[in-house]
Amino acid sequence: MRTPIVAGNWKMHLTPEEARAWLVEFHQSMPEVPSGVEAVVLPAFPLIPVVAERARESGLEVGSQDVSAHRWGAYTGEVSAWQLVGLGARYAVVGHSERRQYWGETSALISEKARRAAEAGLTPIVCVGEPLEVRSAGEAESYVVDQMLGSLEGLAVSDPDRLVIAYEPVWAIGTGRSATPEDAEAMSVALREALARRFEPDFAGRVRILYGGSVKVENFAAIMAKPNVDGGLVGGASLRAEAFAALARLAGSGL
Ligand code: PEP
Repeated sequence: MRTPIVAGNWKMHLTPEEARAWLVEFHQSMPEVPSGVEAVVLPAFPLIPVVAERARESGLEVGSQDVSAHRWGAYTGEVSAWQLVGLGARYAVVGHSERRQYWGETSALISEKARRAAEAGLTPIVCVGEPLEVRSAGEAESYVVDQMLGSLEGLAVSDPDRLVIAYEPVWAIGTGRSATPEDAEAMSVALREALARRFEPDFAGRVRILYGGSVKVENFAAIMAKPNVDGGLVGGASLRAEAFAALARLAGSGL
């Protein structure tokens, strides 16, 4: 059985005060994340200790939106996976399409980040997704599978719970236009098959594959109902604590 995950990517939003208010509101909406679902908050680096301090009282987990490919050293502006672990983070997103697009991050660099995260004890959430022109050309599956395999290069993980893949079509992020449940399922199946070749079928069958891209309460149940979709990576909707709690409830309802 794969435990579903909802992960809220706050991006570069919220002050520390707003983050604290979010946590209070979340706790009011959901005093305890139900067993059988994981809810993960992914704040900007400076907010990680703020969230970590109060996350546990609601059963929330904390993760980062990125991580350095380096362990330690003279890398100004970078954040080490070990620093994140020390602050209470358990997950690290790598390869978000905004990092690929605005910072030119390649799958080779992302694989180094994923390896570093895993080495420090963080669970990497490896993001992949195609731009619109690739989908229009009918090449989405091969593009996304290649991106995933490149981003997992050299990664050695023995516990499938310690690897999460997030399929996020670039054209669906922040646009209000999500993939259909059928397309999300088809891509998840293609990714799982590729994982089975990269690792082994048993391992691949236990890796969580999330869908991301304009997830909201109104469309999430239909996406979650698909057998190979194990949760959501949520941007905009995660900024509202009540909506994020509702998404966690949906993910945990065993649809
Ligand atoms: C994201 O940033 O990963 C994301 C999916 O954003 P949104 O839900 O706003 O489309």
